[in-house]
Amino acid sequence: MNNTGDTSAANKADLFISDLHLCASRPHITLAFLNFLNSTARHARALYVLGDLFEYWAGDDDMASQQTVIAGLRDLANSGVRLYLLHGNRDFLFGPEFCAAANITLLADPSLVMVHGVRTLISHGDALCSDDVDYQAFRLKVRDKDWQKEFLLQPLADRKSQINAMRARSEQEKSHKPSQIMDINPQSLEQLLQAHDYPARFIHGHTHRPKQHDLILDGHTMKRWVLGDWYEQGSYLCCDASGCHYRPIAKT
Ligand code: MN
Repeated sequence: MNNTGDTSAANKADLFISDLHLCASRPHITLAFLNFLNSTARHARALYVLGDLFEYWAGDDDMASQQTVIAGLRDLANSGVRLYLLHGNRDFLFGPEFCAAANITLLADPSLVMVHGVRTLISHGDALCSDDVDYQAFRLKVRDKDWQKEFLLQPLADRKSQINAMRARSEQEKSHKPSQIMDINPQSLEQLLQAHDYPARFIHGHTHRPKQHDLILDGHTMKRWVLGDWYEQGSYLCCDASGCHYRPIAKT
């Protein structure tokens, strides 16, 4: 019996990325991402996009604005790599049409997944920034299905100008917020890990503070991996049978 094929498939890594914030004003990052999809990601078992792939997403009727990225994702999925997506705080309006076009599976935030036998909790991470009371109120509003339905009924151009106004306001507010408020709240983290029965690993993005944290909670040893953003140099977390490692993307 020849198990070689099975063995190599089982050894393939799962890759995790977030906070690429792709947009027209940073075309080199989009190019770097397309290159990543066509090279490194081709050898993976799965690619998980943990939110904020795009700087914003005005709705699935705006697919033309990101058609090269959508085609890149679809090509990767069609090559046999499984693609998974979480909503970020910028692209929470991803819907079924986007997912179908990119051949990517939308997962709930948070979700528990098995990564080479390790129970791994994944999340974008913004829900854990509970010290930022204003942001959590905003999040509650825009994640409401009725609010989204009403928003999506407006013409695309109107939605885009509202999103631009929201982004400008958020940038201005962020400059006044202490850095501690923008990080995740330790109690919220503990509650999340307890509610998911102490997963051995927790991977999230959003804070743009890439670091591996070791923690012990109620006698359980866990690792928290925070993903980096793609503003200057893109990176991904590579998890295989040997564990997880940060990797910079190849230079284009
Ligand atoms: Mn974010």
